[in-house]
Amino acid sequence: ITQLWAPLHFLGFVYREIKHSLADMERMFTLLNVGAEVDDHPAAQTLAAKQVAIRFDCIGFGYDAKRQILHDVSFDIPAGHTVAVVGASGAGKSTLSRLLFRFYDVGSGGIRFNGTDIRELTQDSLRAHIGIVPQDTVLFNDSIYYNIAYGRPGASREEVIEAAKSAHIHDFVMSLPDGYDTTVGERGLKLSGGEKQRVAIARTLLKNPPVLIFDEATSALDSRTEKAIQTELFDIAANRTTLIIAHRLSTIADADTIIVMEGGRIIERGHHRQLLTAGGRYAEMWRLQQESELVEG
Ligand code: ATP
Repeated sequence: ITQLWAPLHFLGFVYREIKHSLADMERMFTLLNVGAEVDDHPAAQTLAAKQVAIRFDCIGFGYDAKRQILHDVSFDIPAGHTVAVVGASGAGKSTLSRLLFRFYDVGSGGIRFNGTDIRELTQDSLRAHIGIVPQDTVLFNDSIYYNIAYGRPGASREEVIEAAKSAHIHDFVMSLPDGYDTTVGERGLKLSGGEKQRVAIARTLLKNPPVLIFDEATSALDSRTEKAIQTELFDIAANRTTLIIAHRLSTIADADTIIVMEGGRIIERGHHRQLLTAGGRYAEMWRLQQESELVEG
């Protein structure tokens, strides 16, 4: 299998691009198992948990030694809760999710799952507990069925269809002449942004992980699709420990905790209402967004 994938080393730049954008990194890792910058500790434990409480404990991190990106970042996501991270571009939001998936190891501090530092867990078992709905879902050039079933190898046809129904994509699939056998992806039927995101949601529902990372798309879907997908996300986030990387504040007003980042530091945290009352950076971002939505009508 190593030989089979050897040409992909040559395509390292593609890999880095994908890695950078967090798009489908789950899939890249599972498929390739190459290029990992972190190793399993010889005595790594296998995580097997139905519920996961996450702690970011005094995290310091830089992609290279010359430039520190995160400074002393600490927060908790209690089991089953949702924490949303907001902040200007480059503030370090996506970096948090890359560290959570253990793409990179932290420079200082530690990330804990139910009290155990994730460096003491096997990467496979860590990643089996995390589902990602990426900004931009890259589909395989294969059937819709395959693209959903990929979430959990061994799932039955009923389970795949059940997941598609929960992600509200089943009716759309059934409207296609070839139904679940329709080929999608670059060389097949091109799906819209919303449809692709629903495939990703169905895949994640099938995987049924206790931890969810949702990287909100920067490119806006039409507002009706966006609202519908938000509702679905809150449904799948219920009872899962969820980290939302948010680009639009309207998505996250219901989150248990909102974290505002600037320059790699947490500058504010609280519920939506608390943050509005506090009249700081979040309140300002909210006001600006309301204004721009009025302008856009
Ligand atoms: P956005 O809202 O634009 O997605 P963000 O808050 O998610 O931004 P990050 O992607 O976490 O920001 O990036 C934080 C900083 O780290 C940026 O200055 C970025 O240039 C830098 N950075 C991100 N990825 C890498 C990388 N692979 N190598 C080097 N620097 C990186």
